Order: sequence, then structure tokens, then C-alpha cells
Amino acid sequence: AKMEGRGTYRFFEATMGAEVRDRRLIEHDLRHAISRRELSLVYQPQQDIKTGKTTGFEALLRWQHATRGAISPNVFIPIAEESGAILQIGEWVLQTACREAVSWNSDLAVAVNVSAVQLHTANFASLLHEILFQTGMPAQRLELEITETALVRDFDRALATLRQLKALGVRIAMDDFGTGYSSLSNLRAFPFDKIKIDGTFIKSVDVNEQAATIVRAVLGLGRGLGLPVLAEGVETASELDFLSAESCDEVQGYLLGVPADIGQFRHLTHETAAG
Ligand code: C2E
Ligand code: CA
Ligand code: CA
Ligand code: CA
Repeated sequence: AKMEGRGTYRFFEATMGAEVRDRRLIEHDLRHAISRRELSLVYQPQQDIKTGKTTGFEALLRWQHATRGAISPNVFIPIAEESGAILQIGEWVLQTACREAVSWNSDLAVAVNVSAVQLHTANFASLLHEILFQTGMPAQRLELEITETALVRDFDRALATLRQLKALGVRIAMDDFGTGYSSLSNLRAFPFDKIKIDGTFIKSVDVNEQAATIVRAVLGLGRGLGLPVLAEGVETASELDFLSAESCDEVQGYLLGVPADIGQFRHLTHETAAG
């Protein structure tokens, strides 16, 4: 038993060691990712459920590491948040998304994920103002996706920042709705323009009565508050049918479009003047 215990301990020690080394490597390499041009944005369409028309795109960050290949944002974003690198990366994301969106021959919106760490810097609204000005991006075309964890950290500061952002003319969506722990009070307290229901509630919503109940409740909440609701992670036609029957406003997911280089969506971003 003693041997076993020691072996187990060593096993954990070894894996934790590898994890820490991995983290340090990622943390170190992230600092050079921008200058090495390893970062890029892919875009995923968001669609009006009634008309089937694309309303905009969510920009999603990709990191193609020189030797390790693609590293998921689920892995490197939390590390970037802890190390502070997210400030530089987040600025690059905003700048790149705005610059690229301006080059589209259309007025489609672009939604950008903003981390809690960015939101809580003293000058976030003025930084964004500067980026809009520099790129010539109309504020109304930009939507910021913010999760609840970004808000609960410092309520007063978050509220002040969101109000400044709204004054600039950008829209604000609550991301991953339902996964936080104080969604309802946050929805009332902050000036949101849209609710994004987290993909975990959409998965099997057509067959899972519990998920269906939650989604119906969120849709009712949106109607009551006058906020459009977007369902993310829509993968099947019957999930879409359910959302359509329940009068969800917008949808996003693999069924409607996998995140890809914006060139893949040329037919949407380069509409003729007539269409
Ligand atoms: P998120 O903001 O909730 O983004 C949705 C994620 O779900 C994306 O993963 C997207 O590719 C994926 N997805 C889209 N449709 C489907 C679907 O039908 N089924 C499933 N299973 N998944 C779908 P991705 O691109 O790997 O990003 C993961 C997370 O990383 C994002 O979650 C977001 O929290 C973060 N992230 C990505 N880009 C940025 C960024 O530029 N800045 C910040 N701060 N965070 C980012
Ligand atoms: Ca998002
Ligand atoms: Ca989300
Ligand atoms: Ca998420």
C-alpha cells in the first residue's frame, strides 16, 4: 500500500511538472506570438432566425504556434489572462477585427470577445475609442461579448466602463448566459443589448426536456426585458427547429457556419449594392 501511495504521488508530481512547464512555455511564447504573426482571427456567422439573413460575425482568436501547431484559445486565453499578456493580445484582436471589418464591402456587425482583465483596465473605453477612430470602424457595427465573471469582480467599475462603452455607441452582449451564478441581477444591473445562451443548453435542446425548459425560460426573460436572444452552439436542424418554434431571435453554430477565414464568407461580406 505504501509503494502504491508513493507511486501515485510520483505520477501526480510528474504530470503537474509537465503542466507547469507547458504553462511557462505558452506564457513565454505568447509574448512573441503577435510579432511572429502567429495570431489570426476566424469568423463565425450569426443569423437572424426568421429571415435566415446573416447579421454579423463573431471573431474568434487562433494561435498557430511555430512548432506545436494550433493551440486552442481555451488553453492559452486563461494563461494570457493570468500573465497579463491578454491586454496586448486583446488590443490586437480589437484592432484586427475592426480593420478587417472595415475592409468588407458590407455593414455587417462584428462581435469581439473581451476578457475581464481588459474590461477592468483604467482606460479601456478610451483605448477602444482610439481603435475605432484609427480604423474608421463605425461604433454601431461593433459588439463586445462579455461574460458575467468579467462583471462580478468589481461591480462599480464594470458598470462605469460599460456605460462609457455604450456612450461610444458600441453594443454589448452577455456571453455564455446561464453558466454564471448571478445572471438575473446582472442582467438588470448592466446595460446589455443582447443575451447569448451558452451552447451547453442548446445541445440536445430538441430532445432534452430539462434543457428545453431552461432555454424557454431564457427566451421569456429576453422578451420580458426587451433583449434579443442569440442561441450559440446550434449543431442540428432539429435544434434549429426548436429554437425557431420558440421564437429565438438569432442563432450561431456549426450548422450555420463553422468559424473560418473571412475569405470563406466572401458571398456575405461582399454583397453587391443591390443586394
Ligand atoms: P466562446 O466565446 O463561448 O465562443 C464559442 C466557442 O464555441 C468557440 O470556440 C467556437 O468555435 C465554438 N463553437 C461555435 N459553434 C459551435 C458548435 O456548433 N458546437 C460546438 N461544440 N462549439 C461551437 P473557440 O473558438 O475554441 O473559443 C473558445 C473560447 O475562447 C471562446 O468561447 C472564448 O471564451 C475564448 N476566446 C476566443 N477568442 C477570443 C478572443 O479574441 N478574446 C478572448 N478574450 N477570448 C476569446
Ligand atoms: Ca463569445
Ligand atoms: Ca459563448
Ligand atoms: Ca465560453
